Amino acid sequence: MARAGGPVPGMSAGDYASRIVRVRAAMARRGIDVLLASVGHDLPYLTGYHAMPLERLTMLVVPLDGPVTMVVPRLEVPRVVPQPGVFEVLPWGETEDPVALVAERAAGARTVAVGDQMWARFLVELLPSMPGARFVRAVDVMGELRMAKDQREIDLLRAAGAAADRVAADLQAGRIPLVGRTEAEVSADLSARLVSEGHDVVNFAIVAAGENAASPHHHPGSRTIRHGEIVLCDFGGTMGGYCSDITRCVHLGEPSPEVAEAYRVLHEAQRAGVEAAVVGASCQDVDRASRAVIEAAGYGEYFVHRTGHGIGMEAHEEPYMVEGNDRRIEAGFAFSVEPGIYVPGRFGMRLEDIVVATGTGPLPMNAADHALVVVEA
Ligand code: ZN
Ligand code: ZN
Ligand code: ZN
Repeated sequence: MARAGGPVPGMSAGDYASRIVRVRAAMARRGIDVLLASVGHDLPYLTGYHAMPLERLTMLVVPLDGPVTMVVPRLEVPRVVPQPGVFEVLPWGETEDPVALVAERAAGARTVAVGDQMWARFLVELLPSMPGARFVRAVDVMGELRMAKDQREIDLLRAAGAAADRVAADLQAGRIPLVGRTEAEVSADLSARLVSEGHDVVNFAIVAAGENAASPHHHPGSRTIRHGEIVLCDFGGTMGGYCSDITRCVHLGEPSPEVAEAYRVLHEAQRAGVEAAVVGASCQDVDRASRAVIEAAGYGEYFVHRTGHGIGMEAHEEPYMVEGNDRRIEAGFAFSVEPGIYVPGRFGMRLEDIVVATGTGPLPMNAADHALVVVEA
């Protein structure tokens, strides 16, 4: 999950113009006549503007050639930072029909790409205005562009990662009290620290203690944390428009030999996944590398999810590190490597870093201690 962050610092009109050029090239290759971007992250990626998730329509109309138009509710226009030469703003008043304005700008288009987070409501309203048009997924062209991060984006991911690392360091140093608090209280503490370390928005802060850690997306609740158990913390937010996402586990007191052994395997599996994340390997190779270590140690049935997901403006985006994804990793691809071992009813553990593939090897965005750090309180 991810929410709108602030504007991305340092982006110029020229940067957005070159993204429009690239998306048009991708549209031409796929026979797409017009691309429509609304709520979601394609719009800010192309223009720097985040649409409020409102019933009032905001939509960027990108035809294969000709002017790019941003149809915006008139009352939102003051929030739009103009990008000269990138798009024209077409405001609509409360009594106008914005769908008609979009249909007019997209007239004659036979194949129309729509963002996957565009509200169904807008698409349903558009359908009768564009009879005969074929609708396809914009993610098939936008995902291509957004997967490979440029240097500025990598710098922003690194800054967000470093901020999340500082919160992880607080956890590992015992500066975040655990024993006697509920998971929800610790989750709120992690969230506050993400913000004080510079995040604009917290996207999630999973805290799962003991047997609850066996559920990968556990919702932190009223369960009180006790001495002698593992505490899994998976948290991240958006900072400067880009996301962080890190998982670390700590153990209250010395872990049992069984938990320590499982963690040793997990740590090795995570390292193997990162090492496999090289340019030219496939996305599924990363999953296979982590999974092979866990399977060889006999925990295969307890690793119940893919190894990773892409990350950028969204906390989860393409590419996915999963069996069956044979896409080649390119320089600039940014994704998580996060194997886990989940023994139902007993304990769970996950270890997650964000990694960027580069020509000189995988570059981790997180450096917090990878050990199962023992804390006392
Ligand atoms: Zn997740
Ligand atoms: Zn995570
Ligand atoms: Zn993740």
